[in-house]
Order: sequence, then C-alpha cells, then structure tokens
Amino acid sequence: MKILVINSGSSSIKFQLLDMQDESVLASGLVERIGEAEGLIKCTLRPGTNRETTTKNICAVPDHTTGMRLAVDLLTDKEQGVIADRSEIAAVGHRVVHGGEDFHRPTVIDAEVMAAIEKNIPLAPLHNPANIDGIRVAQELFAGVPQVAVFDTAFHQTIPPHAYHYAIPYELYEKERIRRYGFHGTSHKFVASECAKLMGRELATFNVITIHLGNGCSMTAVENGKSVDTSLGFTPLEGLVMGTRSGDVDPAIHAFLARNCNLDIEAIDRLLNKESGLKGLCGMNDMRDIHTAIAAGNERAKLALEVQTYRNRKYIGAFMAVLGRVDAIVFTAGIGENDEVVREKSLAGLAPFGIVLDRKANSQRIKQPTLLSSPESLVQIWGIPTNEELAIARETKGVIEKD
Ligand code: ADP
Repeated sequence: MKILVINSGSSSIKFQLLDMQDESVLASGLVERIGEAEGLIKCTLRPGTNRETTTKNICAVPDHTTGMRLAVDLLTDKEQGVIADRSEIAAVGHRVVHGGEDFHRPTVIDAEVMAAIEKNIPLAPLHNPANIDGIRVAQELFAGVPQVAVFDTAFHQTIPPHAYHYAIPYELYEKERIRRYGFHGTSHKFVASECAKLMGRELATFNVITIHLGNGCSMTAVENGKSVDTSLGFTPLEGLVMGTRSGDVDPAIHAFLARNCNLDIEAIDRLLNKESGLKGLCGMNDMRDIHTAIAAGNERAKLALEVQTYRNRKYIGAFMAVLGRVDAIVFTAGIGENDEVVREKSLAGLAPFGIVLDRKANSQRIKQPTLLSSPESLVQIWGIPTNEELAIARETKGVIEKD
C-alpha cells in the first residue's frame, strides 16, 4: 500500500510517498515559493538506496494545483519515477493544523469534515486555509482516493477540562472556544508510542513526558498513553521558550506594551511570535549559532540558553507533578535530537527525582532511538527522532483499513 503524505503551507507543499509494506520512503520533496515569480521544486527519489536521485527545478508555480501536479509528474516520470501511475496511491494523508474540538482522531475527509476544518479557520487563520488548499488539490488530482486529515491538535483532545480551561470568563470558552488545544500532537503521539515499544511496555499503561524541541517547542504529559496536558495552548505561543516565540509571559505585558510603548495589537502579536524567544534574547534563533556565540564569549547567547533550558526544567517538574509516576522522558526534534547541552541542562539537578542522564550516551546526536539514562535512573531518558510524515502515513493507513 502506497500512501502520499502532504503538508500544505501558505506558499509551500511538503510531500512524501511511502510504501507501507515496509514503511520505506519512495520519494520526498518540497515545492516552495508558490505564487512567486520563480518557484522551486526539490525532490529526492528512492532516498537512502543506491539509486537515490535528487532533482531541483526552478519554474513558475503560480498556485498549489500547479505545484502538486509538478510533484506528481516527478513521481510518475517514465524514466526516473517511483510509480507507474498515480492510481498506485492508495490514500493521501494531510497534515491539518487545527481540528478544534471537532476532531479527536484522524478522519476520512468528506464534505462535512471539510466544513468543520473551515469552521476552525478562526482558530488557525494562517494554517487551516493552506491545509484546505492542499486537500482540494489532492481531491482533484486523486479523484476517488481516500483523503485523510491528521490533526496536530487531535492527540491533545484527551486533556481534561481542569487542564484545558483558562481561568477567564467561561463565556469566552462557550462563545469563542478559547481553551488550550495544544499542537505538535502527531509528533508527541509518535515518540510516546515508539518509546513504549522500545521499553516493551503497553502504551495503554505507559506514562511519559515527551519534549519536542525544534523551532517550535512543546512538552506533553502522557498518562496511560493519552495526552493529559501540554505546554502549547490556544495558539502555538504558550509554554516553552522557542526559536522566535516567547512561550509563557505575564499576560499583562500586552497591556503594558500597548499603553507605554505605543504598539498596536498586530505589532504585539508579531513581537511575541517573531521577535521573541531565543531570537529576542540574543538575536539568534538557531541553537547551533547560539553555541558558537557562547564559545566566543557572547553573554546574551549564554542567557538565551539558560532561559530556555530553565523553562524546560520547570515544565518537566510541573508535568512530573501532573503524572505522579513517570516511566520515561523523551527528547525529539531538531534541538531535542541534536543538542546534548540542552538535554543535559534541561535535566540538571533532577537526580533526587530519579532522573539521571548517562553523560557518555548523551554526548551524541540522535540518529536512531537511543537510551540516554544511566542504569540507576528510575526514569528512562530517551532521544527518539520524530518522523511526522511516517506518523501521518501510519495514521492514514489505520483510518482507511478501519473504514
Ligand atoms: P521545525 O520546528 O522547523 O520542524 P526542527 O525540528 O527541524 O524545526 O528544528 C530546527 C532547529 O533545530 C534549528 O533551528 C536549530 O535550532 C536546531 N538544530 C538543528 N540541528 C542542530 C544541531 N546539530 N545542534 C543544535 N541544534 C540544532
């Protein structure tokens, strides 16, 4: 069974074709700069095999339909392609950012589901419209093929009311649906279940704290295999310190900025989403640059690292209190997989809680699931590469096999 995974953004489409028989990747690519004068298509066919080929084409990509058509042409190319015909694709899995309270699991897309994704546009005004574009194009190109929406928020729909409510007037929840939704759900679910498998545990009785540290960062408390709390909230701004996003701030800062710094609401939104986080503290949002700067004696870079890892530690403590028993802690995504210093600092001083890192095991970049705790650690610590495309493909397969 071959499954095409699509992650459609406002000006880009990421795609991956997987053969679910052995979960191998047949092709993986990216169409960028859709709508600009010159678009760019990058595609790697048969990655990791001795027949791997990568192409890069610059050409006009006026819209998502053209972008997707060009991608399909590469996949079905007579000489180089990986499938003879698009009819070989059994299903298309779409990443959809916001499912609101409507979706607790991946869902086959029909008119009603499309309407519900549209209804949730106010909750994700930048992402959901782009996801909808991707779905429409795929419906046109792969008529009759099941299209499945895999929601970034769905895994967190098990969070109980006491954890998803903000202490603001209840009517705002009823009327505006303001509550914690959480994001990165596909990644948290994927690494939580991989970790349970690796430890030989049933997911249904497994408690784990999953820490996704990329450009966006979030942490989830998983109890008996289900998300019971997560650090991202109503939008992907709350919680941990991210590349350019502030994470938690005193909400009164907004009013202060408006009253005293002459900033309007759009400027405040931009400041907290694009100019804050690591970048706000030290001018750099890539952890690799931050380490280079620290080595050169840059004090602000050092501060940014300290602020981020302190916040991580604080949330780990909070989620330990939420869970009571913690079987494992998992680090994933760009920083979580690659940055031993961030992992070490985020866990520093937690030995009295039974969390002990093995320094040698930790001193590497994680290319495959790796146990990072020392034998005496009561809580196992793992580095597990996330794989959103595979996770979406698995979810898609699960849905269409059930249907
Ligand atoms: P996204 O949220 O965009 O999917 P990723 O999970 O790919 O992000 O993470 C990107 C971030 O990972 C980069 O901004 C950088 O801070 C960090 N990163 C990537 N490689 C390394 C590395 N070798 N060492 C430290 N940090 C890294």
